[in-house]
Amino acid sequence: MNKKTLIDEYKKYVMPTYTRTPLVLIKGKGSRVWDVSGREYLDFFPGWAVSGLGHAHPAIAAALNKQAKKILHVPNNYYNEWQAKLAKEIINNSFDGKVFFCNSGAEAVEGAIKLARMHGSAKSKYEIITMSDSFHGRTLSTVAATGQTKYKQGFAPLPKGFVHAPFNDIEAIKKKISSKTVAVMLELIQGEGGINVADPGYVKALRRLCTKKGLLLIVDEVQTGMGRTGKMFCYQHYNVEPDIMTLAKSLGGGFPIGATVAKRKFADTLGAGTHASTFGGSPLACSCALAAFDTIRTKKLIYNTKKMGAYLYKKLTLLKAKYNIMKEVRGKGLMLGVELYKPGKTIYEECLHRGLLINCTHQTVLRIMPQLAVSKKEIDKAISILEAVFQKEGV
Ligand SMILES: *Cc1c(COP(=O)(O)O)cnc(C)c1O
Repeated sequence: MNKKTLIDEYKKYVMPTYTRTPLVLIKGKGSRVWDVSGREYLDFFPGWAVSGLGHAHPAIAAALNKQAKKILHVPNNYYNEWQAKLAKEIINNSFDGKVFFCNSGAEAVEGAIKLARMHGSAKSKYEIITMSDSFHGRTLSTVAATGQTKYKQGFAPLPKGFVHAPFNDIEAIKKKISSKTVAVMLELIQGEGGINVADPGYVKALRRLCTKKGLLLIVDEVQTGMGRTGKMFCYQHYNVEPDIMTLAKSLGGGFPIGATVAKRKFADTLGAGTHASTFGGSPLACSCALAAFDTIRTKKLIYNTKKMGAYLYKKLTLLKAKYNIMKEVRGKGLMLGVELYKPGKTIYEECLHRGLLINCTHQTVLRIMPQLAVSKKEIDKAISILEAVFQKEGV
């Protein structure tokens, strides 16, 4: 099918909820993807971090293939060995506790919200403080939790019980705490919000504050988890532990799976019958996530993320010295943002034109998050494309 016909069919049959770039992708391998005309692109933004192991990873393909021949789905009124194995793997890589499995980021956050509300219900506490410029998903309650008005317009009435505080401001959180507050939720690096990194002092103070006030600290690691920032989970940079953590995006190496992880002390809050997800923790999804953990470990991808992240950061900083459109380079590991002095849409489009896929968020922030096994050569190529674009734009 040619590209125009396909796009026309989308127009006719697919709801227009996304701003789509007219690119029809048909295959991928590692850091590269190919479109329907056979053109190759360097993918430095693989699916909002979903394809964190790179495209068509052989270990994920093998896990899918092997599991598909055995059993795809086991309903949650029975047991399956892969779900237990994966829960144990997540816990062994994070903090002592238990896991609830679901299928997406919003659902993982929804689980965290429900757990927090159930936890507070005996004392009529339900309010959750979240941050300005945060992003927690597109369901009604996760949109309510999200600290950006643009995602809320047209969807009133939203569930109540969410209040927002400015990011990196501990005093502002203190002011928002009321007799109804049950939890504080944040991303340690705001992804959609423009790669805003939480300060170490702020996170330490927030952990202390939550402990002192008896509030749950919920860390949304949907985008930052699975090695992306140079640690398995981003909170591990901060020497603190959350009470609840949410995962999705690259957890399944590209296959959909989400998880709500809670400290042992709070992990039995949602008892039998209080929460569920039909597809949650299927043998297929869990096999993929187990293969993802195994790949991160055996291919030393966290080491590569730190090394290549530092290299990419250095290269971007060198560009910043040359092109005065660049205001700041920030982030951790391979989750980097370049804040520009002007909107980045044309930069994004020119990069695409030259075969480099990146993202532009919050108008002025280029978001660059290559797969964890990215090579120096690939980074050099991406940087040379970016530089050519800056030169052409005369910035
Ligand atoms: C993407 C994202 C979500 C929502 O995930 P979906 O799978 O799209 O529902 C939630 N939180 C954060 C931090 C995200 O980046």
